[in-house]
Formats: sequence, C-alpha cells, structure tokens
Amino acid sequence: MALKTHKIALRPNLVQVRWFQNQCGYARFAYNNALADFKSGLKSDAFRSFITLNNRFNQTKKQYAWIKAQDQRAALYAIRHLSEGVQRWKDKLNGFPKFKKRGSRQSYTTDEQSVKVEDKRIKLPKIGWIRMFQELRFKGKIKCITISRTAHRWFVSITVDTGTPNNPRDTRGYPVVGIDVGINALATLDNGAQYRNPRPLKRYEWKLKREQRKLSKKVFLSNNWYKQKRKVERLHYRIACIRTDTQHKATTEIVNSATAIGLETLKITNMLKNRNIAKALSDSGLGGFLEKLKSKAEVLGIPIVEAPQFYASSKTCSRCGHKKTDLSLSERIYHCSACVSKIDRDVNAAINLKRLAVGQTER
Ligand SMILES: [Zn+2]
Repeated sequence: MALKTHKIALRPNLVQVRWFQNQCGYARFAYNNALADFKSGLKSDAFRSFITLNNRFNQTKKQYAWIKAQDQRAALYAIRHLSEGVQRWKDKLNGFPKFKKRGSRQSYTTDEQSVKVEDKRIKLPKIGWIRMFQELRFKGKIKCITISRTAHRWFVSITVDTGTPNNPRDTRGYPVVGIDVGINALATLDNGAQYRNPRPLKRYEWKLKREQRKLSKKVFLSNNWYKQKRKVERLHYRIACIRTDTQHKATTEIVNSATAIGLETLKITNMLKNRNIAKALSDSGLGGFLEKLKSKAEVLGIPIVEAPQFYASSKTCSRCGHKKTDLSLSERIYHCSACVSKIDRDVNAAINLKRLAVGQTER
C-alpha cells in the first residue's frame, strides 16, 4: 500500500470559514469531553477504551441541541486521536494528554467516504464544494481528510492510497548515510555535509514582536484590530513556510543519495521540557524534518535504522570506540583522550550512527 498525502490550500468563502471554525470547535469539544471522561474513569480504576469513550460521548451529546448540525465524524476522529494519545502515554512515549485550549491549533478530520475531488475543488460532508488552489496530485482511493488552519489560511490534507506498491529504487552504489540532527545544524551527515538551520523565528522575532505590540494597542475586535491580526498571522505563516521548505529540500537530497539511513531516536517532547533549548528546538522544526525524511525513505524503500534510545552517539569516539562519561553541549569538537583524535562533534555522532546502520542492514 502506498499512502501519499497532499496538503492543498483552500479558498473557502466566509460561510465555509465559519463552518471550518465550528467543526474545529466541535472536534475540540468532543476531545476535551472524552478526556474528562477518561480521567474520571481512571479515578475509579476503569480504563476506558476508544469504543467506550466514543459510545459514552454519543450519549452525552444528546443533551446539546447545537451538536446535531455538526459533522459527527469530526468528533469521532477527535476521540480516536485522544485514544492514540492515551496509548502513547501508556507506552511512555508521551506525557498524559492535555485539554485543548481555545487558542490551540485548529484542525479536524472527517470521513473520506462521502468526499469527492474534482479538478480544483473538493466536496466535504455537509458543507459541499470548496475551491482549492491546486489539483490533487495523486490518483487513487482517498483514505483520510484533515482540514487545518495555519495562520490566515485553511488547508486540506488528503491522504490517497495510490494502489501501486512502494517503488523501491535501485540504490546500488549509494552509501549508507548517518545523520546527526540538531539545533546548530539541522542535519550533519557522516561525510561532513551539513544542512543549515534557517531558524526563521529568530530571524523574524523582532518584527513579530513589533507587530504583536501594535496589535495589543488596537481596540479588541475592531476593524483595525482584525487588519493587524492578519499581519501577525501572515508573519507566522511565512515563518512556517521557510521551515517546511528547508525540510523538504534537505530530506529529498538525503534520500536521493542513500541506500540506508542511520538516525538517533529523539524524544522531542522530552527535549521540549528543557527550557534552555525549547525555543530553539521548536524553531528548528526537527519533528517535521524527521517525519518527512521517514516518509520519503519509505516510498523509495530505503531502510531507516534508529539507534536504541540510550545509544551514546555523541559521547563515543568514532575512531576507537572510547566512550566519554560527559560531554557538554558547548563542546563543538570531540577530543578523544584514548586515541588523541579531534573531530567535529556532529560528524563524530553521524559516523557512529552510520556504523550502527551498516551493522543492522548487513544482517
Ligand atoms: Zn578515540
């Protein structure tokens, strides 16, 4: 099965925008409701599964008249999303799911059965045809539809099963590539090549602050306030575009010249808890980079070997295997006390990850 996702910007009219906002609100309502229900279940030692949560929500929702008009699938998928979050929490991959606030990311997923795509338009349940900026790039059965908002713009992500199996590329002659990902450089390869981190938030920080300050001085919900809000949103959008653009360029280049890839296992949610690096880390968009790398590698049939979680790729000497007990983040050059070699810290880590991948894929 070859699943491919195309994210397309939408051109909704005002009524449709209102509808999107309402469905995102409904999805959030269902999510929060089910989360509260799940929590109360835990108190009496009842672990509520997805099915139970969904059935209980279907009972609860009867008391709200406004819910009838909504897209019921938005709630179903929101609760499924919650159950997946609960599962990750059980597997200790994530913290406990949090309630979604009014200002959190707006998105909802709906049923693909009744969705139609024709040229530059898409038909969604209950609201009907909505114009798109582009045609859907892939042909096949539509598997999943998510509507989301980034800055001032609404998007639809359409996942399509193209029916053709993934097409493994002939990678003979290409090397196994080890990649060290990080904040200083987005990615460092074992051959020393580096992908710069554009850090767009840092670049636009002062401008964003200035526009946000202007916004705070406008009369709330006035015409000028909306105008200024749009300016701030556009800036956020530009920052997001720079990030995804860099990620796409780097990941395509890497997968196009590798036969296998060695990576670290990063727990980004854990790393975000470290306040000193949280801002720089979310600005670098490592999560998006890894996601794109993995999906592109999968399509081409390139295996990705992730190092075990506590594998010390940075602390181990790539030349003699000596392992340091500590290595501070500020030490950019790895000095080995055993074999007296000097090597760039990130390249050293990348070489170790490459070795690991070579060992795994040869087996
Ligand atoms: Zn050494």
